[in-house]
Amino acid sequence: MTFVNELKRVCPDNFLEKKEDLYVYAHDTSQNPDNIILPRAVVFPKNTKEVSEVVKILNKYNVPFIPRAQGTNHCGATRLIKESVVIHFSKMDKIIKIDKKNLIAKVQPNVVIGDLNKELDKLNLFFPPDPSNLAVSTVGGAIGLCAGGPRTFKYGNTKDYVINLEVVLADGSVIKTSKDLPKNVTGYNITSLFVGSEGTLGLITEATLKLIPKPEERLLTLAYFNSLEDAAKCVNNIIDFGFIPSTLDLLDNNTIKTIERFNPCNLLTDKEAVLLIELDGFRKCVQYETEILKEILQKSNALNIIQAKNQIENEEIWRARRSAYSAVTQLKSNVVTEDIVVPREKIVECVRKINEISKKYNITVCIMGHAGDGNIHPNFALDLSDKTEKENFEKLKDELFYYALSVDGTLSGEHGIGLHKKKYLKDALDNGAFQVMQNIKKLFDTKNIINPEKMF
Ligand SMILES: Cc1cc2nc3c(=O)[nH]c(=O)nc-3n(C[C@H](O)[C@H](O)[C@H](O)COP(=O)(O)OP(=O)(O)OC[C@H]3O[C@@H](n4cnc5c(N)ncnc54)[C@H](O)[C@@H]3O)c2cc1C
Repeated sequence: MTFVNELKRVCPDNFLEKKEDLYVYAHDTSQNPDNIILPRAVVFPKNTKEVSEVVKILNKYNVPFIPRAQGTNHCGATRLIKESVVIHFSKMDKIIKIDKKNLIAKVQPNVVIGDLNKELDKLNLFFPPDPSNLAVSTVGGAIGLCAGGPRTFKYGNTKDYVINLEVVLADGSVIKTSKDLPKNVTGYNITSLFVGSEGTLGLITEATLKLIPKPEERLLTLAYFNSLEDAAKCVNNIIDFGFIPSTLDLLDNNTIKTIERFNPCNLLTDKEAVLLIELDGFRKCVQYETEILKEILQKSNALNIIQAKNQIENEEIWRARRSAYSAVTQLKSNVVTEDIVVPREKIVECVRKINEISKKYNITVCIMGHAGDGNIHPNFALDLSDKTEKENFEKLKDELFYYALSVDGTLSGEHGIGLHKKKYLKDALDNGAFQVMQNIKKLFDTKNIINPEKMF
């Protein structure tokens, strides 16, 4: 019996192997039109037992496999580099329980984050990690990449909300990494080891998440500036005053113009930068704080200040922010989103540097970022089928990443390493730490079959 027949026996109705069915699973949001390798098969297990059986078969035949959710990652974390089987979690998408008394939720990995928050909303609860595409991306994917998003400055990222995981290891055995408790320092913190491991150490089949009470009010302010310097100074002024906004995002003029060109949202296109600032908490506090924020913005040379007065206006502003990526995708056939982090004091220098190197290589860039965290997302619009543009982009990336490292920054704040940044990883880490990470991979995956050649 071949491994394919054995897999079919485990998931008879949830199995794909026809060529025309496989193409979609060869891609993710990362852009690289070359070297498309189709999976040998895609399996959709329905529960932990099936995941375990599938993994045991693949282990027995030494067949590489890739855990996959919605494939919205930007780093090639779910791309194939050799013939592999894709283990797709779409049949494991149930919210198992929401326990308001203990502020936890237990979910299967493919629960969509937006759907989880809709259920939590009804109970006035909240799960803060938000990979900005929360209508699509999943809890399992967010755990795989330790996703962050616009609210990280105040609330932290995915690792701060994962308290226990059920994981299928490379030999098909199943472990629980902790207990369903928000505090637990009993033994090593292997829960966090799996968060951000990019599906290279094990397969998450269940996650227990920490929840927090939903803030009563959220109000957004847009503040426009004539210079990036003023916008960056303003970020510091807001923090120095003692605010911890739930969102402190920056959009540059190219991003504003591109949003207005393709998804008009009434943004002002003649300003160099706009800050999007969200305050949340009790209604009266937020209203009071919004007034103080206005004073700080005025003193920081903000030219136009637009403050949402209600949830409808709030949503309108979020729509603008969330549509930025899709607007940029309409500029050229490919968009590559990068994700460097620099010390916050270097934000202006970093934005200028990105513009300088993009100009040097003649590549269009729209820059936005989570300014509170120093996490900058340049969205490069280009045509990767154009050989010169592709070569230029490789040079641009080298300059971008080595610039970030030269100012004590790093390669990724929330999108991960995957295939696309792995050539820089050794230079981004302490030598000893790099070695320890490779040893961890070998320990969990002696045959190198779980999402192989990602990260390292
Ligand atoms: C428009 C847009 C905006 C974005 N904005 C942000 C942002 O602001 N912040 C941010 O952090 N990210 C952002 N992202 C990146 C991306 O959406 C996130 O990384 C998201 O968390 C990936 O979720 P997914 O369900 O698509 O997972 P996938 O892309 O399918 O998988 C992600 C990783 O998790 C692994 N994985 C998936 N399921 C499992 C499992 N059950 N067990 C083990 N490993 C698993 C995969 O192998 C892979 O390594 C954005 C993407 C887009 C397209």
